[in-house]
Amino acid sequence: MTKSYQNYIGGTWVSGTSEIENRNPSDVSDLIGLYAQASANQLDQALDQARVAQAEWAATGIEKKYTVLMAIGTEMMARAEELGTLLAREEGKPLAEGKGEVYRAGQFFTYYAAETLRQMGDTADSTRPGIEIDVRREALGVVAIISPWNFPTATASWKIAPALCYGNAVVWKPANATPASAVALTEIIAKQDIPAGLFNLVMGAGSEIGQALVESPKIDGISFTGSVPVGKGIARAAIENLTKIQMEMGSKNALAVMDDADIDLAVAMAAGGAFGGTGQKCTASSRLVVHASIHDEFVEKLIKATQAMKVGHALDAGTQMGPAVSAQQLKENLAYVDLGKSEGAELVCGGARLEMPTEGFYMSPGVFVGATNQMQINREEMFAPLAAVIKVDSYAEALGTVNDTNFGLTAGIITSNLARATHFRRNARAGCVMVNLATAGTDYHVPFGGRGDSSYGSREQGSYAAEFYTSVKTAYISSGAPD
Ligand code: NDP
Repeated sequence: MTKSYQNYIGGTWVSGTSEIENRNPSDVSDLIGLYAQASANQLDQALDQARVAQAEWAATGIEKKYTVLMAIGTEMMARAEELGTLLAREEGKPLAEGKGEVYRAGQFFTYYAAETLRQMGDTADSTRPGIEIDVRREALGVVAIISPWNFPTATASWKIAPALCYGNAVVWKPANATPASAVALTEIIAKQDIPAGLFNLVMGAGSEIGQALVESPKIDGISFTGSVPVGKGIARAAIENLTKIQMEMGSKNALAVMDDADIDLAVAMAAGGAFGGTGQKCTASSRLVVHASIHDEFVEKLIKATQAMKVGHALDAGTQMGPAVSAQQLKENLAYVDLGKSEGAELVCGGARLEMPTEGFYMSPGVFVGATNQMQINREEMFAPLAAVIKVDSYAEALGTVNDTNFGLTAGIITSNLARATHFRRNARAGCVMVNLATAGTDYHVPFGGRGDSSYGSREQGSYAAEFYTSVKTAYISSGAPD
């Protein structure tokens, strides 16, 4: 019999009003489980209990917080194999990527465990005699976390870990496409000695429970990762209550390949950056801006590398690219293939639906050439295993093309010229810049975020996360004269 999984509200596992099926995108006959959908009342209960628990947690000593976060991170790392397999099974990313994601998620918790001990403030003398000033950060309060399906464990962890580190309570609405990873992480957090209600899992549709959560006046902050249209809606809801927000919404990242580049390195970075995670990465290298003098050689080698990629069941050994996450995502991906062709780009390989021994949402990675930066395939985030090559005649044209986008999360350059690398690093309009690296692939101890439509609000990750998860208090102290 298929197992049912519940929401976690006020320290108790509870059934919802209905359940959704969670099926493996590599093999739709594999039913992973049934997952509860929370009601509006349950959400309200979670918010009320979070408020009470937050006060207790904020007053809890930093060593206790350290111990809790360290225990969560350590368990995740120790169980990376098991939980990574579950993640790969429900999301469709290759097993190695699933395990790597869970391990990385654990590192977010151990990193923020240490951050609990590194919370420092400022002191100053007042301009008025005899008065001292103490500036410190306090918890924001109750934080709503809304996470996507593409990195369901890592994204959630880089929000939950700092939220708890800085003394907040959490109400987490994960993506309905990946509820198993959410329950697994919640089970680990629920084992800890923390106030009941400090951490709540409310699964449900974004348009229903997610919308109710972001509209609630009972939250103090919203951290969201997902699409631009949903992000804009969340921002509108947040402004009604003047709720603090932080949003990361994807991108249209470009990798510039210069005439002085190591072509084999460029091809490896382009293929890995464009097709890793089936292209379902906000950091995916979907625009390849290539110098005319090496264009043909680069394209020839890129086609070979793309065709050599092994597409298959996420849990099969040797699979380099799994299926799209859902039938809907696959449909949208294939629509972008048609769109690119209709815009005049030439599809030189892949971009086709694939039949496999198991029924899933498979397609081959695809490369367009002859594309211009004005085409819709180069303006919109496709979230597909598709990359478009744009030919340019100079470094200056490459930089201009990289920067000609409404987004600005990551930008990369492959070059052996120090002057170009330095100029690019200083002038690419993106939150993260990569030199001789793919646009995807970031660390956990430094800030992550972008410009333009990619991000809104302060940065995530590293110590910069404190900006969102805390509120600054300035205290004035007049101690008077001693006897
Ligand atoms: P969404 O933006 O719809 O989903 C992201 C999260 O927001 C999910 O948890 C979702 O819940 C929730 N959500 C949806 N609607 C609301 C709402 N009205 N109020 C509050 N929360 C809401 O992304 P999709 O999953 O639909 O993916 C569509 C496209 O978005 C992708 O193709 C890609 O281009 C982009 N995307 C970008 C990501 C990134 O890393 N920046 C991540 C994911 C998507 P639920 O899924 O349960 O409905």
